[in-house]
Amino acid sequence: MAATVYALATAPGRGAVAVLRLSGPEAGGAVEALTGRPPPPPRRAALRRLRDPASGETLDQALILYFAAPSSFTGEDVAELHLHGGRAVTAGVVAALARLPGLRPAEPGEFTRRAFQNGRMDLTEAEAVADLVAAETAAQRRQSLRQLDGELGRLYEHWRARLVRALAHLEADIDFPDEDLPSGVAPAVRPVLEGLRAEIAAHLADGRRGERLREGCHVAILGAPNVGKSSLLNALARRDVAIVSSRAGTTRDVIEVHLELGGFPVILADTAGLREGADEIEAEGIRRARSRAQGADLKLAVFDATALPALDAETLALVDDDTLVVVNKTDRACLGRDVEIAGRRPIQVSALGGGGMAYLLERLEAAVADRLAPGGAPTLTRARHRDALESCLADLTRALAAELPELAAEDTRLAMRALGRITGRVDVEDLLDVIFRDFCVGK
Ligand code: GDP
Repeated sequence: MAATVYALATAPGRGAVAVLRLSGPEAGGAVEALTGRPPPPPRRAALRRLRDPASGETLDQALILYFAAPSSFTGEDVAELHLHGGRAVTAGVVAALARLPGLRPAEPGEFTRRAFQNGRMDLTEAEAVADLVAAETAAQRRQSLRQLDGELGRLYEHWRARLVRALAHLEADIDFPDEDLPSGVAPAVRPVLEGLRAEIAAHLADGRRGERLREGCHVAILGAPNVGKSSLLNALARRDVAIVSSRAGTTRDVIEVHLELGGFPVILADTAGLREGADEIEAEGIRRARSRAQGADLKLAVFDATALPALDAETLALVDDDTLVVVNKTDRACLGRDVEIAGRRPIQVSALGGGGMAYLLERLEAAVADRLAPGGAPTLTRARHRDALESCLADLTRALAAELPELAAEDTRLAMRALGRITGRVDVEDLLDVIFRDFCVGK
């Protein structure tokens, strides 16, 4: 029998209320040991005095909630003790629980893990619980809630169910060639596999929206030394995070700030100025700046208004479709309205004076939203999902190219397992169910 586990569900420290959660067969017994009475009826709050079972000393007056298995978060008996949120109170109750037989502290994630193991949620929903708790912006919260709602899991389960049926047809062709089965099974299966392959490929070609939203959109600020990259970062972050200095080569490493822009998470990075003839340490900074530029979802290529019309060639070379071209220090030099850099109108700002910064933020926010905003369809949110879907796609491609039905079936089975890995359902029993239900083979 599973151990009964307990843990503080709220953040440690002082607060109005601290919630201690218990899950497992002894949850009700533990409540009884602390209160001297059986737990309240499921889902009905009751105010009870908690006493240390060993000394009889009162530990707190707490609101008790009880959920009987299987109608609980974990699918087991669950009790929640809503304590006064002080360190001595929680420490006293935890110490009392620790002395009860059959109880132990929960491991990280153990409540959600039990919920998954008891079939209360699939793996994508369990991941969504973690993401929801970690969500820092509104868009991240929305994405986690959609996934927690089972949107992603349902899509994969739907695809897997189609594969199970396709496989059942293929297997029936192989295993029961003499039975009176519908003919032309293989041609019937082909469009199913092709259709799925196209849907999965389209799902994968989402520009990593979900993953970016989960992790944050990486924006790199690039430019020659002294164009005002650090000043720009500070102005965008509205606090002093990077060292601003007029000596070239101050920012030798990559400095990051996390921002929320229009509800989207953004990781803004200031990078070492790109220049020739730098010393060894600075050269390393420049190498990191270039690699950061390559890995970034968006780039701000910054040019110095006082240096125009000369343009820094290194920075210019990095301008692409994911780049916003910015000209800084426009307080010191006026630009004509029709100036173009790399074929586009630059965004004119003064990082120090603040001019144009609101417009830059607006443009940046629009560019981020363009890359991160979820569409109507569910988006995958983790590399784990992407890896499994990519192997599923490869399996389907091999299945479609296979000449022998046995090989096609084997590759289809692998594709099905790859999908099952995402949601955590990798059983073959349901394949047998479909075979016997659809074809009524063998009595
Ligand atoms: P970085 O090397 O590209 O990071 O440039 P910094 O942010 O360190 O700035 C270099 C110098 O330019 C500093 O002396 C800043 O005060 C100055 N600077 C930055 N932005 C502006 C601006 O908008 N206008 C003016 N006049 N000076 C600026």
